[in-house]
Amino acid sequence: MKYDVTVIGSGPGGYVAAIRCAQLGLKTAIIEKYNVLGGTCLNVGCIPSKALLDSSEHYHNAAHTFKEHGIELNDLQVNIEQMINRKAGVVKSNNDGIAFLMKKNKIDTYYGMGSFVNKNTIKIAGIDGQEQQIETDKTIIATGSKPTALPFLPIDKKRIITSTEALELKEVPKKMIVIGGGVIGLELGSVYARLGTKVQVVEYMDSIIPTMDRSLGKELQRVLKKTLGFEFFFNHKVTGATNEGETVTVTAENPKGEVVTFDGDYVLVSVGRKPYTEGLGLENAGVQMGERGMIAVNDHLETNVPGIYAIGDVVRGAMLAHKAEEEGVFVAETIVGQKPHINYNLIPGVVYTWPEVAGVGYTEEQLKEQGRAYKTGSFPFKASGRAKASMDTDGFVKVLADKETDEILGMHMIGPRIADLIAEAVVAMEFRASAEDISRMSHAHPTYTEAIKEACLAATENRALHI
Ligand code: FAD
Repeated sequence: MKYDVTVIGSGPGGYVAAIRCAQLGLKTAIIEKYNVLGGTCLNVGCIPSKALLDSSEHYHNAAHTFKEHGIELNDLQVNIEQMINRKAGVVKSNNDGIAFLMKKNKIDTYYGMGSFVNKNTIKIAGIDGQEQQIETDKTIIATGSKPTALPFLPIDKKRIITSTEALELKEVPKKMIVIGGGVIGLELGSVYARLGTKVQVVEYMDSIIPTMDRSLGKELQRVLKKTLGFEFFFNHKVTGATNEGETVTVTAENPKGEVVTFDGDYVLVSVGRKPYTEGLGLENAGVQMGERGMIAVNDHLETNVPGIYAIGDVVRGAMLAHKAEEEGVFVAETIVGQKPHINYNLIPGVVYTWPEVAGVGYTEEQLKEQGRAYKTGSFPFKASGRAKASMDTDGFVKVLADKETDEILGMHMIGPRIADLIAEAVVAMEFRASAEDISRMSHAHPTYTEAIKEACLAATENRALHI
C-alpha cells in the first residue's frame, strides 16, 4: 500500500493528526503497537485517572460531606473491583469511539510495531505475527512517552509501581508512599487517599507542582493536608527502596543529610515521563535525536529529514494531551501548505485534584524573572456565593496583568471546577483581553466563574465587589 501520510502512534497526537490529514484529503494510515487505539492518554493516563478520580470523589463526599447536606448513609463501602471495572468500561467505550472515527474518516489502521526501513518505507510487525511494509510520502511520529524510573529503584509492578499499575490495583492500600509531588502523583495519591489510604509524598524539590505559579502549590498542599491527611516531605532525596513482601521501605536523605525511611504497602514512583522511541528504527531514516531522548524538530515540527514530522510527548514542550492534539492538527495543515500557529504560552496546565488547579500564561515567578512590570488581582472562593452553596470554599483565582496596558499575562486558579474554568482564561488571553475587559463582561450568578470576573476587577484599580 502507498499512503500520503502515515502516523505512527495512536495517542491524542497521532489519532487527531490522522483525522485532520484525512479531512484535508490525504490518504492516511495509522499504526498502533497495541491492539487498542488512544495511546497513554486514553488507556493508562488522562481518562482512566479521571474515571477513578470521579469515583473516589463520590465516595469521599458520601463519607464526609453528605451528612452536612442532610443525606445519611449506612454501611458505606468501597468496591474497588467495581470501581476498576467501571474505569475499564469508560476506556473501552472511548477505544471504540476512536476506532469508529478512523473508519468514518477512511483511515487505514494497522495494529503492530511500526519502524522505519528507510525514509519512505515503514515495516509493521503485526500483533498477529504477520509482517508487512507500506510506502509513505510523509510520516508523523507520535510515539509518546513512558514513565521514568529511578535507576536505583526498580519498578516491580506489584508493590513498587508506576501510574499504570496504580490504575489497576486490586485493593485499597493501607499506606502509599508517593515519590514525586507532580501532577500524576498528586492525582493518583488523591484517588487512594479519598478511599482511606494514608498518603505520604516524598519530593526532591521544596514544593509540589513546582512549575506552576507558586501560590497554587502552597494552597493545594494546605488543602490536601487538611481534607485528605496527605503528609509532605520536601527536599528529600530518595535513595532506594526494598520490597519485603507486603511492605516496602523507601530510604531517603532529608535536608539535614540524615537517612530517613518511609514504610508503606505500595510505593508509587511518579517522577516524570520520558519520550518513547524504542524500536522505531529512526537511524534507518536518518532522523536525529535531540536532548533527553526527544526527537529533535524545527518550528514546523519537522525532523532533520524532510517529510518526517514528530509531535506530542516525543518532542519538546509540555507532556499534555491537548498540546499533542494541537501539534497533530498543526502538522497535518503544514503538510498541505497551510500556515497554522500554536501559541505554546497559552496551553493550560491542569491538576485534577480537589480542589482542581490550573494555570495559563506566565507565572508570577516568570514575570519577576523577566523584570516585567505587572499587577495582580485575586479573589478567594470563600467569598463566592456559589462556592458556599456547594461547600467548596478553598482556593482562589489570581490574575496577573501588565501594569501599563492591563493586558492579562497569566491566570492561575485553584478551586471547584477549575479544570473547566481555565478555558475562559485561555480565550481571554488568545484575544489579548485586558483585566478590565473581563471585569466588564457579565458572568452568570451564581457561578464559580464570577471569581474570575472578581479577580479581574481586583486587578483593575482594586475594584472587586464582593470582598
Ligand atoms: P501517547 O498518548 O503516549 O501515544 C503514543 C502511542 O504510540 C501509544 O499508543 C504507543 O503504544 C504507540 N507507539 C509507540 N511506539 C510505537 C511504534 N513504534 N509503532 C506503533 N505504535 C507505537 N495529559 C493531559 O493533558 N491531561 C491529563 O489529565 C493527563 N493525565 C495523565 C494521567 C496519567 C496517569 C498519565 C500517565 C498521563 C497523563 N497525561 C495527561 C499526559 C498524556 O497522557 C500525554 O501527554 C499524551 O498521552 C501524549 O500523547 P501522544 O499522542 O504524544 O502519545
